[in-house]
Amino acid sequence: MNQVPPPAVGIDLGTTFSAVARLDDLGRPETLINAEGDKTTPSVVLVDGNEVVIGKEAVKAMATDMIAIAECAKRDLGHRMFHKQLGGRQYPPEALQGWILNKLRLDSQAQIGDYSKVVVTVPAYFDEVRRKATQDAGYIAGFEVMDIINEPTAAAVAFGFQQGYMQPDGSTPKEKKILVYDLGGGTFDVTVMQIGGREFVALATDGDVRLGGRDWDQRLVDYVAEDFIRKFSLDPREEPNTLGRLLRECEDAKRTLSARKKTTIACDYQGHSMRCDVSRDQFHQMTQDLLDRTAFTTRQTLKAANLTWDDIDRILLVGGSTRMPAVSEMLEKLSGKAPDRSVSPDEAVAHGAALHASLLLSRFAGQSPAFRIKNVNSHSLGVVATDRETKRPRTAVLIPRNTPLPCAAKRIFKTQKANQRSILVQIVEGESGSPEDCSQVGKCSVRDLPAGLPAQTPIEVRFHYAANGRLTVIVRVEGTETELKHEITRENSLSQQQLNSWREYVSQVPPTAK
Ligand code: AMP
Repeated sequence: MNQVPPPAVGIDLGTTFSAVARLDDLGRPETLINAEGDKTTPSVVLVDGNEVVIGKEAVKAMATDMIAIAECAKRDLGHRMFHKQLGGRQYPPEALQGWILNKLRLDSQAQIGDYSKVVVTVPAYFDEVRRKATQDAGYIAGFEVMDIINEPTAAAVAFGFQQGYMQPDGSTPKEKKILVYDLGGGTFDVTVMQIGGREFVALATDGDVRLGGRDWDQRLVDYVAEDFIRKFSLDPREEPNTLGRLLRECEDAKRTLSARKKTTIACDYQGHSMRCDVSRDQFHQMTQDLLDRTAFTTRQTLKAANLTWDDIDRILLVGGSTRMPAVSEMLEKLSGKAPDRSVSPDEAVAHGAALHASLLLSRFAGQSPAFRIKNVNSHSLGVVATDRETKRPRTAVLIPRNTPLPCAAKRIFKTQKANQRSILVQIVEGESGSPEDCSQVGKCSVRDLPAGLPAQTPIEVRFHYAANGRLTVIVRVEGTETELKHEITRENSLSQQQLNSWREYVSQVPPTAK
């Protein structure tokens, strides 16, 4: 009997919306519809006693059950716990993300049958800790995460496919340099890529993991709330359900302002009602600094790639927030070029992930892949060293940011005393010279150095970034071949045992339609 090959499935796990895509029988990406009949699922979780509700129904509950709602859990990845309790209990953000992925898995399996292998996307600017947390969320949801891929890279792959860069006849259109500007619900990424000869090469990447459409919503919430305070000396933001309602109203108003020049936002609190008119110009003014931050990062990225706007063939818009007219206006002013809207901002990332999944599946099956992706690391990798002069801790960079991946670097540490049996290396990611301002990847400890080593024995620690930005470490006594056993302790990461129990728990408490 012929075995049916597993479907190539890619998941865009967004801060505010998520999407699943697979390749159809002709190898074209298609977005799968969720149980509610929509192409995207709000990344919102309601924990209501023993019931967990994900998506549209959870969003509706924002007006009544805000204290039991987790939204934007993706922003908390890399922290031990989600920033607020839900029903009196704390949850790691991986578990909340795991629940969202579990709903996406169940809904899509209802259409395409059982599968477990997936590719999940992450913002290019995610550090190593957040990348691991995303893979862990996939594990909790019952998936086998074959790989994680950067969102702008995925969008560029989808664009490349659409533009005919992966023609089966092997022909390739002319090489192009594209700038992917990806403004989603909670994160901002900008990546400069070169596409050509079936190769997708990231030249530079930058971003902000705490900047997205949600911040634009918050500005409207604050604007309405301040008007309310002026009129009634009451702040509607202080009551969670009123805030939840206002957030929904403001997100809606923001969308309206992408299509119309003005809108009205209603706000009711403690028996008082108010209608607040907002024009598109006013909205632009109150959010100008947020847009300026993206413009600054865009210019920096172009510079890091050693390019000017003349070198850029296309500016690709990805992420729902690029529908705000101010975004394309700003980019056009900056570059003198009209941005490209040829890929669907909501679907391109999931489509690219599905294409990448098919590439991996064909590689596993021993076939040659249809295209290649080359990325760069988005943060410098370093270890904590002691400054010789000041004797204070400082970051010693081993792999600077924007280095092509995969890559490796080694550092020699010397034992301090004779017969020293252990060493500890603290690994960080970031651009700051002071380690406490960097992201703490973890502590690498070697506990069983061979006995009898003299003082000053060189110990070689080799750091390796895989193509997807995940880190592995190899430790040896310099000049020997034997790898020494070591352990990386991650402060804000779940242990394998915790992951297993969350995986079991999430499978027992599946998301329900309320
Ligand atoms: P994504 O993470 O790419 O799904 O983007 C979701 C974000 O896009 C959310 O913050 C939405 O509010 C925002 N968004 C979606 N449609 C529009 C629109 N028409 N105008 C402005 N923002 C939008």
